[in-house]
Amino acid sequence: MTASALSNWERVNFRIMPVMGSTRSLGEAVARVFGRKDARVTIHGKRKETAEERADENGEIASLTIGSPEGPQIPTTPVAASNGQSGETSDFVGPRDGLISGNKMGSTMPTIETLHPEARGVPKVVLFDFDGTISLLRAGWAGVMAPMMVAELAMLKSGESDAELNSIVREFVDRLTGKQTIYQMIELAAQVERRGGAPKTPLAYKYKYLGLLHQRIAHRLDELRSGRATAEKYLVPGAIELLETLRKRGMRLYLASGTDEEFMKQEADLLGVTRFFDGGVYGALDDYKSFSKGILIERILSRSECHGAEILGFGDGYVEIENVKSVGGIAVGVATDEGDCLVVDEWKRNRLAGAGADYIIPNYLNQADLLERIIAP
Ligand SMILES: [Mg+2]
Repeated sequence: MTASALSNWERVNFRIMPVMGSTRSLGEAVARVFGRKDARVTIHGKRKETAEERADENGEIASLTIGSPEGPQIPTTPVAASNGQSGETSDFVGPRDGLISGNKMGSTMPTIETLHPEARGVPKVVLFDFDGTISLLRAGWAGVMAPMMVAELAMLKSGESDAELNSIVREFVDRLTGKQTIYQMIELAAQVERRGGAPKTPLAYKYKYLGLLHQRIAHRLDELRSGRATAEKYLVPGAIELLETLRKRGMRLYLASGTDEEFMKQEADLLGVTRFFDGGVYGALDDYKSFSKGILIERILSRSECHGAEILGFGDGYVEIENVKSVGGIAVGVATDEGDCLVVDEWKRNRLAGAGADYIIPNYLNQADLLERIIAP
């Protein structure tokens, strides 16, 4: 996760965003997402009625242009909205330097990748990971955790360069992503010990990390609490619509996170998603052996809520994918590029595919197609 990827949504706030081909299919969905994220969207397309409907739905529409993509009237870069924030406009880089083209993305954007077409069924229980799968509030967390760990190890003067320490840290941080945070801290303590240091407890490292992370994300939580931003800004696009659809189809939804429960419950409330999880919302506990995603699945099965094959899981970490596959369920890898959440992050994709994911998606904008592939008639 790069710092620039982190703040793309924030930059979008200050723009008028032209979305070409936004009166149909993917372009329309993209325009809607940018609109929800408080960008002022320039709707463009050939279908006049749809364009006008879209403009009516969104009071912040900047302008409406009916015509072909080559029309001279279309601005070709995002422009600053008149809110005094024009200095923010220079570094947002999107397709064609900021001109988002629905048509172009429709042909080039990886939408749904089916790895195992036989992975179909009639799910009764759906398990969602939280961070990176539903919530973007902690996007960039690894950029806080890894430097903290490198600094702890660098103090031990083992002779390794910062770059060497960084690659060691990134390997185990990535490998343990999806498990409770404490496992990354247990590994840090082991690495300190290996270099002759006297480690703090894993719990002490965890609280140090959480303090640093909180400084980085506090403004996001404040934005939601104060109403300066809507929840959509920090949700993987299409998440709410998918949760609504799954509930309407009578599935029981569980939210299970490796993030500490007291924090992720607050964050789920702020994002307005708690109400969908009739199975419950679960996060990491200080007594870390008392809860895990695997334990939750065992409990669901032991209560005979469903068979393993009737579990559908969504996650951006390999742990939840492996957990779901180990009981014969269907696993969807959410490999969203957390910059703009419109394309697949190749690194995540490869990792989730390696863990056994049946489908790979960049977001939930194509959920009708996804559910058609997953749900057996
Ligand atoms: Mg996650």
